[in-house]
Amino acid sequence: MVLVNEESCLKIVEMIGGEKAVSVVKTLLNKPALTDEEISALTNVDVKEVRRILHRLGDVGAVSYEVHRDKVTGHRVFKWRVQQEQLVGYTKTLMRKVLERLRDRLEYVENNQLYWCGTSGCPKYNFEEAMQALFKCRKCGKPLNLFDSTEFAERLRKKIAELEANLK
Ligand SMILES: [Zn+2]
Repeated sequence: MVLVNEESCLKIVEMIGGEKAVSVVKTLLNKPALTDEEISALTNVDVKEVRRILHRLGDVGAVSYEVHRDKVTGHRVFKWRVQQEQLVGYTKTLMRKVLERLRDRLEYVENNQLYWCGTSGCPKYNFEEAMQALFKCRKCGKPLNLFDSTEFAERLRKKIAELEANLK
């Protein structure tokens, strides 16, 4: 695969069509120009599911097909390929959006004292928000305490660096 980062692309493929989409794409990369039935046989994914996945990937330009005519039956046959450049382009666009969001988040975390109830899934509050909520979580009602965001910020920084390296 001539990709900057195959892993990122496959993650995006998984986001689009699930784990089965990943095996469809991997199969097509190894053996381009397969029909939906051939992909189904090689991946053990139901042919209807294969078609659904191919259409979803086709919507973002990650796969394309050529039409052939079966010499015996005269039926039209679709042979599929991964459009690697489009897939890379689509992946990069999404990664840039994620990167943007992470940078915003990091900036927010660095510039705000955060308060939290300690319950996972509950939001973190900045000082004004915590004051307005009278230092009680609006979601679960538990008291809000100062949240040490050092570790969280560190995780964000790491993730940002990782994405930046992949987007070079
Ligand atoms: Zn809470």
